[in-house]
Amino acid sequence: MNINKVNNWLKTIQNAICPTYCALCDKPTEEALCEICEADLPHLDQACKRCALPLADVDIANPLCGECLVDPPAFDEAIAPFRYAPPIDEMISHFKYQHHLSMGRLLGGYLAQHIVECATTVDALVPVPLYPSRLKHRGFNQAAELAYWVNRRTRIPAYMDLLLRVQPGPDQRSANRKQRQRQVRQAFRIKPAYTHIPERIALIDDVVTTGATARAAAGCLRRAGVKYIAVWAIARTGKQEGRTRQKPPALDHHP
Ligand SMILES: [Zn+2]
Ligand SMILES: [Zn+2]
Repeated sequence: MNINKVNNWLKTIQNAICPTYCALCDKPTEEALCEICEADLPHLDQACKRCALPLADVDIANPLCGECLVDPPAFDEAIAPFRYAPPIDEMISHFKYQHHLSMGRLLGGYLAQHIVECATTVDALVPVPLYPSRLKHRGFNQAAELAYWVNRRTRIPAYMDLLLRVQPGPDQRSANRKQRQRQVRQAFRIKPAYTHIPERIALIDDVVTTGATARAAAGCLRRAGVKYIAVWAIARTGKQEGRTRQKPPALDHHP
């Protein structure tokens, strides 16, 4: 029997019993997002090969941004399916600050799908950790949630506690770029219980903004002997975007 036919029947039956709605506009749809919302997502098409900074023009022979040419980060490559722009910024904000874990599942699915399409792989997924007091306040680590969904799809092992955050993050609202970089440089440690560290690691995070956090976490892994470090995130900000913490906007969301 044709498996696609069976899947279509199952979807039809499921929708008849329990209709599903677009997570953004509430239109009935069989998918997580309706076709219109899906088509509106801000895909990151042209970006720096090293840090994923959105670029207007990419030099195919040397696809790097100015900063990576002058001051390359400790990670080898960054991959993000989206620019940090509406509605992705709002979706991430709802996931992080309003605990919409179903949104995390959706975003994690997009990240995993993108990784599969990029045909890249590593030995281990390592979520960027939160400082313990922030983890306690938020109740969950959004990067660990994303790593869980990427692991579910790719089967790449997730080392959830390999990295520890030993210093709190910088104040996103008041610190400038240089201050933030200084504040996060010594923020990470390898958990002492790990005696064997995989050679190729993907750091998982929700958004790469200045890259300071990713640089610091990657620096810690590099000092521990990791040979290849990628950063896999949902979204990458442009030069002027995402400098302030997003307040969750009024986004309709089905329970
Ligand atoms: Zn929609
Ligand atoms: Zn770059």
